[in-house]
Amino acid sequence: MVEIFSSVRIYDQDFPVIYKSCAKSRVIRLRYSRCGREILVTGPQSVSGSHIKVFIQKSMTWLHTHVPQPNHYKSFSSGVIFPFLGHDLTIRHHASRSSSVLKDGSLLHVMGPLEKVEALILQWIIVQTKTYFEKICSFHGPAIGVTPTDVRIRDPETRWGSCSSRGALSFSWRLALAPREVSFYVAVHELSHLKEMSHNRTFWKLVASLCPDYQRHQKWLAQEGASLHLWGRRS
Ligand SMILES: [Zn+2]
Repeated sequence: MVEIFSSVRIYDQDFPVIYKSCAKSRVIRLRYSRCGREILVTGPQSVSGSHIKVFIQKSMTWLHTHVPQPNHYKSFSSGVIFPFLGHDLTIRHHASRSSSVLKDGSLLHVMGPLEKVEALILQWIIVQTKTYFEKICSFHGPAIGVTPTDVRIRDPETRWGSCSSRGALSFSWRLALAPREVSFYVAVHELSHLKEMSHNRTFWKLVASLCPDYQRHQKWLAQEGASLHLWGRRS
């Protein structure tokens, strides 16, 4: 059962609290969902509302250190500079009835109504990111004897890439905001899964054959990856 329980105020912002009861769970757990920008609480079915409230109250210190402050969020709007595939791009908005996005060197011109700027940039990033990952796959896949059946761009909350049993690879568009060698590593990681599903020694050897420095990039994702989730709305 899932219910919207109440809301909790953190940094002058109200976050909905969603309670998910589960027959198997014995303890109450809480986490911040970057995806819905909400507080997710899971626990047994028998827990009372007041019990949950006390639990949330006790977790306030934790929430204050784990929920990003609203002013830490970054939106794609005119004048903003954002990292894109290893280069900084500056957004320039031009009011217009028809919508289009055009990259000219380090400038990203966005034509269209003001309220559409962020959506247009997100769309543009997704298209560019797909082409970028497709190129890596078609260039480096043959080196280890694999070809993905499809390359998809998504916005998952907890993973950067994934590989389906049918051989399709999915990547987070947010990787376009990471250093290029980091997104390259994620591409190599997923490509290697087409040959070896588990994270065993054969798998890591395969990864290292295309990306010898992969441990450095894993470290970057562990330390800096959360910052990529501060950009834009969830797509
Ligand atoms: Zn993996």
